[in-house]
Amino acid sequence: MMLTEAAKKMPSDISKVIVLDPTKNCPAAQVGAEQIIADFKDKDAIIELATKADIITYEIESGDSDVLKSVQDKAEIEPSPDTLRIIQDKYLQKSFLTENNIGVAEFVKIESLEDLKEKISNFGFPCLLKARRDAYDGRGNYKIDSEQEIEKAFEYFKGQNIMLEKFVDFKMEVSVIAARNTKGQITAFPLVENIHEENILKITIAPGRVSKEISENADKVAKKTMEVLKGAGVFGIEMFVTKDDKVLINEIAPRVHNSGHHTLSSSETSQFEQHLRAILGLELGSTKLIHPTVMYNILGPKGFVGEYKPVSLQEKNAHLKMYGKRESKPKRKLGHFNVVDVDDHESPDALLERVDEISKSIQIEPLAQ
Ligand code: AMP
Repeated sequence: MMLTEAAKKMPSDISKVIVLDPTKNCPAAQVGAEQIIADFKDKDAIIELATKADIITYEIESGDSDVLKSVQDKAEIEPSPDTLRIIQDKYLQKSFLTENNIGVAEFVKIESLEDLKEKISNFGFPCLLKARRDAYDGRGNYKIDSEQEIEKAFEYFKGQNIMLEKFVDFKMEVSVIAARNTKGQITAFPLVENIHEENILKITIAPGRVSKEISENADKVAKKTMEVLKGAGVFGIEMFVTKDDKVLINEIAPRVHNSGHHTLSSSETSQFEQHLRAILGLELGSTKLIHPTVMYNILGPKGFVGEYKPVSLQEKNAHLKMYGKRESKPKRKLGHFNVVDVDDHESPDALLERVDEISKSIQIEPLAQ
């Protein structure tokens, strides 16, 4: 939706968007994209899209990289399917980063229960068993606190490829939204601080409350990552700041990222415009953060599935963005709002207080029948 909105502001010869999405009248279609209604992995639909489009990009990383590779003669795919293939598999992703001397938590591939029992002794407790694929928002992690939990954790991932990772006792979770265009130009937005609840992003604070050194270090790590990964586009690079102020990459998303939604209100260029500029080979926009901003995710409440009442927000210097998803489901990302410090005089705590108040006034409630 937000990529389509950004495209619609561009010159008419590059503003046409066709979206492939399984939900009829999906958010992007609601704002003017032509839609192919099909599953994200439907090969025929992807071929149809490649035939109709000049450039294909994606904002979900679970697509089939082989299918995308097979249509490369029909349309340019950005970021490249090879990059997608590496990123989709956490083990390949972390091996790739390690090969390029980019810091990640210690990790190892696990082949069997015996293998896990043996390797876990080098890691100590707690540690994390992770599914290698299709596991965003923490859905594929199992924290093992003691020897007694090893078998249960292994059973939890039955039939899936897994890896073991050292637990990082981090001080803060942060991210950098970086971009590279098809000509090799690289930019990064300033580091932001992310607060998760039950493994889902809840709040992003821009700029993050870290020292200049940490911020510069994260910027370097992000730009180095962009240099080694192929393909153009925006990448969300999630990192841990350790207790001794080191920066380790936790995960890379080869797409516009939830922790970059603040750019819609805070920055000269939004991450969505930046992504389009990157894949179209245009000069990348300024990543300057003009207004400190806090983003709050509006999630579907627990215990309710169904249509919900429209939500509105009248507060000054606060921008609500709902995604037009018809149904709420527990923890579903339905929208977000950005609270903006326009005059640059509110402290992060004051911004967070405003966020807290607004979040209480926004309730997702069932639509009366
Ligand atoms: P993931 O889906 O792997 O990005 O993980 C989701 C969340 O789990 C992260 O945002 C962290 O809060 C936590 N997490 C993931 N890996 C580790 C780790 N090695 N050590 C500590 N916490 C982790």
